[in-house]
Amino acid sequence: MDKSRIGCMQIYTGNGKGKTTASLGLAVRAIGHGHKVFMLMFMKGCKNYGELSAAKKYLPGLTIEQYGLETFVNRENPSPEDVAEAQKAVNRAMQVVAGGDYDLVILDEINVALDYNLVSLDQVMKLIESRPPHVELVLTGRNAHEKVIEAADLVTEMTLVKHPFYQGVEAREGIEY
Ligand code: ATP
Ligand code: MG
Repeated sequence: MDKSRIGCMQIYTGNGKGKTTASLGLAVRAIGHGHKVFMLMFMKGCKNYGELSAAKKYLPGLTIEQYGLETFVNRENPSPEDVAEAQKAVNRAMQVVAGGDYDLVILDEINVALDYNLVSLDQVMKLIESRPPHVELVLTGRNAHEKVIEAADLVTEMTLVKHPFYQGVEAREGIEY
C-alpha cells in the first residue's frame, strides 16, 4: 500500500446500465497494479453474481461482501430486515474505509440505500469524511444524493439511451449478473 497516493471519491450514477460493472472494471485495473480492493454490496443478497465467483476463484486481491435480502426492497415500506442489513453494511463500510487497508473501496448501490432511506445522509457523509487521503472510494447506484455529489471529486452519470430490457429481454447470465 502506497500511502502517498492521492485518492479520490467517485460516483457512478444515472439510469443507464454500467455503474456496477464500471466499478468492477476499475477493480480489475487496480488489482493489476497489486492494489487491494474491497467491494461492499448494499441491497444485494442474491448469490449468483458472476463477480462473486470470479473474485473467489481468480482475484485474491478483490474481497466482496454482500448485504441485503434476496427479495426486492419495498421503497415505501422497507422491512426491518432490509433496514438491519443496510445498517450492518454501512457500519462495515465505515470500518473498511476508515481502516485505510484497502487502496480501492467500492460501495455498490449505496446511493440507492440512501435514496430508499435504509441508511441516513448523515451516515453516508460521515463515511465519506472518514476516507483517508490515499484511499480511492467509489459509490455506485441511481439517484445519488446532491450532497454526496457535492462531496465527490469525480461523478459519472450513465444515461439510458437503449436497454434490451425494454424489448422484453430478461436479465442475462454473465451480462446483467
Ligand atoms: P450493471 O450491474 O450491469 O453495471 P448497473 O449497476 O448500472 O448495471 P443497476 O441500476 O444496479 O445497474 O440495475 C440493476 C440491474 O438492472 C442490473 O442487472 C443491470 O444490468 C440492469 N439494468 C441497468 N440499467 C437498466 C435499465 N435502464 N433498464 C433495465 N435494466 C437495467
Ligand atoms: Mg448496479
